[in-house]
Amino acid sequence: MKKHNFYAGPAILPEYTVDKVIEACRDFDGMGLGIMEISHRSKEFVAVMEQAQQLFKDLLDIPQGYHVLFLGGGASTQFTVVPMNLMQKKSAYLNTGAWASKAIKEARLYGEVEVVASSEDKNFTYIPKGYVVPEDADYFHITSNNTIYGTEFHSDPDSPVPMVADMSSDILSRPVDVSKYALIYGGAQKNLAPAGVAFVIVREDILGKVDRKIPTIFDYRTHIEKGSMFNTPPVLPIYAALQTLIWIRDNGGVEAMRKRNHEKATLLYEEIERNKLFRPTITNEEDRSVMNVCWVMNEEYAEHEKPFLEFATEHGMIGIKGHRSVGGFRASLYNALPLESVKALIEVMQEYEKKI
Ligand SMILES: *Cc1c(COP(=O)(O)O)cnc(C)c1O
Repeated sequence: MKKHNFYAGPAILPEYTVDKVIEACRDFDGMGLGIMEISHRSKEFVAVMEQAQQLFKDLLDIPQGYHVLFLGGGASTQFTVVPMNLMQKKSAYLNTGAWASKAIKEARLYGEVEVVASSEDKNFTYIPKGYVVPEDADYFHITSNNTIYGTEFHSDPDSPVPMVADMSSDILSRPVDVSKYALIYGGAQKNLAPAGVAFVIVREDILGKVDRKIPTIFDYRTHIEKGSMFNTPPVLPIYAALQTLIWIRDNGGVEAMRKRNHEKATLLYEEIERNKLFRPTITNEEDRSVMNVCWVMNEEYAEHEKPFLEFATEHGMIGIKGHRSVGGFRASLYNALPLESVKALIEVMQEYEKKI
């Protein structure tokens, strides 16, 4: 039976990416050697790095003055590297979930952190609005998609100070006005590549403004200067990222991704609202994530939670159990997830409804 992969991360990748990686592990670029077994300084791999950086720039229409880096350590490392590089005295953060909270915790090690607003009062089921970003902050940090709770910014907010975004789980899912951000980062394993690499898009002119000593490996300027090759980068995930970027380009770019993702999410939210068993956890439609759709059992059917999950799993739906801090269900609909998988999930939801 066909499995439908709704895992939140690591998550489904395009078949194209997986096939290309398998091929390159045996014979990369006609070298007669596998990509995992060659120097990262070989001209063949340097070309991979350069193409991946360029394609990232092309797909997101990244303006002049920005650099694209691929760094080890995932998004969590960036929680600490961002304030180390950008915070002289004070920063502002929007607290929209567990990942945002972790970023805030690390930032506090480097100076004063003002949490401008938080949705923690309602278990992060909405995106705060009407907050004021202090003009004396060195930067303002947001999490564009809250993977665990299923809320998302659908446009790029304004900020009076340089803006930084964790886009781990919605990068390349829609067009982004990169010029509004000073820095965008994320782990690759949600929408781009296998785990092991983080992408960083950074505007060069915001660097070099802090007094503290920054360890060489954590200084963004090191990686800019060395073309993201200061040390051995995560070669295989970067190769996979390049394949996903090519796949996005060949499938119409980020605007086409946005349309597809929107169609998938709309179908699923409509079914959750129609089906007598379920309701969405995010009631405010404009805050609903297109990437991570969360829902719960209506109270009167609460005892069906486990049996439904079992039924869905038996029918090939994998990874739809909600995060332990939210409960219920979550289906992650990243770029690579086909519409067919959403339709299959909806069918299973309807079949179960008919049984009771
Ligand atoms: C998964 C996730 C992270 C953590 O990424 P790691 O690469 O595991 O450190 C951070 N932020 C968001 C929004 C995420 O979804």
